[in-house]
Amino acid sequence: MRLIFLGPPGAGKGTQAAVLAAKFGIVQLSTGEMLRAAVKAETPIGRKAKAVMDGGKLVSDDIVIGIIRECISQVHCKAGFILDGFPRTLPQASALDQLLAEQKIKLDRVIEFKVDDAALMSRIEKRAADAIASGHKPREDDHPEKLKTRLWAYYKETSPLIGYYYKSGNLISIDGLAPVETVTREIEKALL
Ligand code: AMP
Repeated sequence: MRLIFLGPPGAGKGTQAAVLAAKFGIVQLSTGEMLRAAVKAETPIGRKAKAVMDGGKLVSDDIVIGIIRECISQVHCKAGFILDGFPRTLPQASALDQLLAEQKIKLDRVIEFKVDDAALMSRIEKRAADAIASGHKPREDDHPEKLKTRLWAYYKETSPLIGYYYKSGNLISIDGLAPVETVTREIEKALL
């Protein structure tokens, strides 16, 4: 099973990807998580990405395409994967098409998470408050001002992918505002 989860920041892609990847025995590939790990480990990629991510902007296509190229060809991805947060631009989507063609594999579905901006704002505020309450530092980009930049990047760069995947006939839209278990069920239904 090979899936893309598409949606604005805070729409629940990561939560659902973790649940469904575990359920299906496939891999969750979150470019955001991989980049945060690179920043923490202060790798050359992490050093390049840090300021961009802290500002809520998109990391360059070359960097994220390189990361995904390396992952997809690895043996642990053979059973399938959920791309969580990739692709986020049209050049990334066409690079992914090329990668999949090279590997002779196809996407099964693209799931679009629909959530309105006000709900996203409260989810991100809650995520930051939960991090603080559990003694962790909230994400630099989980700040209302940064969220606006991230949303702007989503509408400008990522939302055109909805048209791109609609055209391929693979797109399913779900209500990302529903409770977590309901969203999981909706996605499973869409995969039947
Ligand atoms: P996320 O955890 O998916 O919200 O990603 C956090 C941040 O990582 C984003 O705001 C971007 O700065 C960067 N990022 C993650 N995935 C991508 C991507 N596919 N393209 C560009 N930047 C990305």
